[in-house]
Amino acid sequence: MRATATVVIGAGQAGLAMSRCLTEQAIDHVLLERGEVANSWKTGRWDSLRLLTPNWQSRLPGFRYQGDDPDGFMTMPEVIDYLGAYASAVAAPVETNTAVLSVQPTGDGYRVITSEGEWRCRSVVLASGACNLPEVPSVAQAVPGGITTLTPADYRNPDQLPDGGVLIAGASATGTQLADEIHRSGRPVTLAAGGHVRVPRVYRGMDIMWWLDAAGVLDERYDQVDDVARVRSLPSFQLVGSPAREALDLNTLQAAGVRLAGRLAGINDGVAQFSGSLRNQCTLADLKLGRLLDAVDEWATANGLDDETEPPHRFEPTHVEDPPPLLVNLARGGIKTIIWATGYRPDYSWLDVPVLDHKGRVEHDGGVTAAPGLYLMGMPFLRRRKSSLIDGAGDDARDLTAHLAAHLDSVASVRYVSQPRISS
Ligand SMILES: Cc1cc2nc3c(=O)[nH]c(=O)nc-3n(C[C@H](O)[C@H](O)[C@H](O)COP(=O)(O)OP(=O)(O)OC[C@H]3O[C@@H](n4cnc5c(N)ncnc54)[C@H](O)[C@@H]3O)c2cc1C
Repeated sequence: MRATATVVIGAGQAGLAMSRCLTEQAIDHVLLERGEVANSWKTGRWDSLRLLTPNWQSRLPGFRYQGDDPDGFMTMPEVIDYLGAYASAVAAPVETNTAVLSVQPTGDGYRVITSEGEWRCRSVVLASGACNLPEVPSVAQAVPGGITTLTPADYRNPDQLPDGGVLIAGASATGTQLADEIHRSGRPVTLAAGGHVRVPRVYRGMDIMWWLDAAGVLDERYDQVDDVARVRSLPSFQLVGSPAREALDLNTLQAAGVRLAGRLAGINDGVAQFSGSLRNQCTLADLKLGRLLDAVDEWATANGLDDETEPPHRFEPTHVEDPPPLLVNLARGGIKTIIWATGYRPDYSWLDVPVLDHKGRVEHDGGVTAAPGLYLMGMPFLRRRKSSLIDGAGDDARDLTAHLAAHLDSVASVRYVSQPRISS
């Protein structure tokens, strides 16, 4: 059994940012990672994916993008290199290929059982990711035999799909990006869109992420919003990070030839049933887009940017076929593949601490759980709107490190500063 003050589980950006902040506070810690640094980016993403956040926005504590393309979007190999460089720069004490199998409370801390032995510690940071498992709706059980089903975690590129039509359920960042790529491969694509968030890539000559960052929208705190549960479950932006800075929304996809349908509500005897709410969902998304742009314009005026940026303008409302398809016979419609781009969820099957809600998610108040010394990182809107982004890890890690340090001080007169590790 080895001992340390804090065990951080996961070496993605959340765990690495936490490590840097713990080091600053001289808190002895270890990062336990079941794969390699940046494992999720290495193993769980499709080939063509690029970040949808610009390079300048990949800010981490004590580290930022130094390349010559600050407005570009990293490819996956670039993200992996970037996080690897960060781990080296902050000398993160990562134990790779070490899967955490159980975390148990011990009264004065935690026992962490891993594939490589056990740890004893006073505090644990869960930085194991919000997107460990694809969220697949129950309608998946009714998919007829002969149709290939995939999740974004399995999808790599269109070559892996059979020829023929593809139905993609979900029209957030993942669903829209896959619809675009698969349609370009020559396969007819139907995109089933439920609630979604439409944003432009570029507005008034500036990247939308620049506006959201500059206007402080991404810094909005979890205790400043009316309904934090609702905002935590909002879908991701319809955005793609392409070198051409292309817009990716339901209008651009339809113009390219993607067929739009409402949310996939059921499959009965091989007939897919789509919700009739597509028009409402699109109207709502257009309305919210308008409100966002109003807020951006107000902020630009208040901050004297009207002369420095292009004039305000508005985007075409989303076009919806009249009437949108409600029933599609999958076999007759030539659908050979269904992709569930319906979100992700975390996996805490190894967490034996009573902090999970009925959906298996950690209950927390800004990352602080009810179990003393147990912290959470990397969840949507954990402490700020940007919490689940690379750019959001730093501020959350600083806040939670302060809380964690106070906790360690309260449970022990001496922190475990660089204690020798006890081998079993
Ligand atoms: C498709 C996709 C695109 C995204 N694009 C962007 C983007 O453009 N810009 C942006 O800022 N954000 C983006 N995000 C959001 C976010 O940045 C990523 O999800 C990111 O991976 C989250 O970092 P993390 O450190 O919280 O979790 P992860 O990167 O998932 O890291 C968690 C780590 O914990 C490890 N782990 C999990 N369980 C265990 C265990 N039991 N034992 C040991 N180790 C364990 C995993 O192997 C993993 O390495 C995207 C997310 C997805 C899914």
